[in-house]
Amino acid sequence: MSQSEEAVRASFKDKKRIIIKVGSSSLIHANTGALNLDKAEKLVRVLTDIRNEGKDVVLVSSGAIAVGRHAINMTQKPDTVCRMQACASVGQAKLMMMYQRLFSEYDQAAGQVLMTKYTILNDRSKENAYNTFNEMFKMGIIPIVNENDTISTYEIMFGDNDSLSALVASLTGADLLILLSDIDGVYTDDPNTNENAKLISYIDRLDDHIMDMGKDTSTSDVGTGGMKTKLSAAKIAISAGADMVIASGNDFSVVQRILDGKPFGTVFASKRDDGFDENAYIRSTMEGRITDPSLIRKEGI
Ligand code: GLU
Repeated sequence: MSQSEEAVRASFKDKKRIIIKVGSSSLIHANTGALNLDKAEKLVRVLTDIRNEGKDVVLVSSGAIAVGRHAINMTQKPDTVCRMQACASVGQAKLMMMYQRLFSEYDQAAGQVLMTKYTILNDRSKENAYNTFNEMFKMGIIPIVNENDTISTYEIMFGDNDSLSALVASLTGADLLILLSDIDGVYTDDPNTNENAKLISYIDRLDDHIMDMGKDTSTSDVGTGGMKTKLSAAKIAISAGADMVIASGNDFSVVQRILDGKPFGTVFASKRDDGFDENAYIRSTMEGRITDPSLIRKEGI
């Protein structure tokens, strides 16, 4: 491990505000599409323990669409926005019921925060969200964030929770973002096709070479993010002054090991950019998006 990687990883134990994003594939049994309750319990225990150490913690949890899909026995991945939204309407409520039950076992208060791009683009709702998060931290509540899938239209949709979690890190002034998914880090090449591909454990410059390594699609049947969205998230997080880690969500005890400075996943070292503008970033992602709902259905987006 290089000296700079060691120093950055060693600083993780002193982080004060940590955002943890969990992908759908890390919460769902791949063969049945049902919730993995054992993993969810572990996640809740790990998060509560971080809170018990006196740190602020936010969970950005995907899974609404996948959980809803399973609840209504839909075997195919929904192919239109309105179908995804209908699944999310069922799944988000079920997901929160599960989280509330599990957090209450540890007497830990948790609250739901659902956001769209407009939450950040609109000055008043952005300020409201900022104030609400701060109040929740003061009151010791763990915010559980997701995209407000049921009302997001294509042009305002984050679509993936990777960039949403990075924007939450930026909005809340978090100092660490951990993305947990079916990918355990950034590799020199696709590890599924190249057995010589090596995990890159530390990235201190997010240059074009690294950005080009992002694959456009997710290989998972339930999530929407891939490496591309994770690298975009890294760009947001590090510009906002937070370190970021991509690690495997296979076993959630990895979170404590990361916080202990152990060598898991890929670390992106923060490089605060005072010129970084969340709103300009969001606007750039909305350019050219279709606004006509009939087109959305035809294109199956
Ligand atoms: N908001 C979506 C859900 O809860 C997840 C998006 C993602 O996979 O990142 O199902």
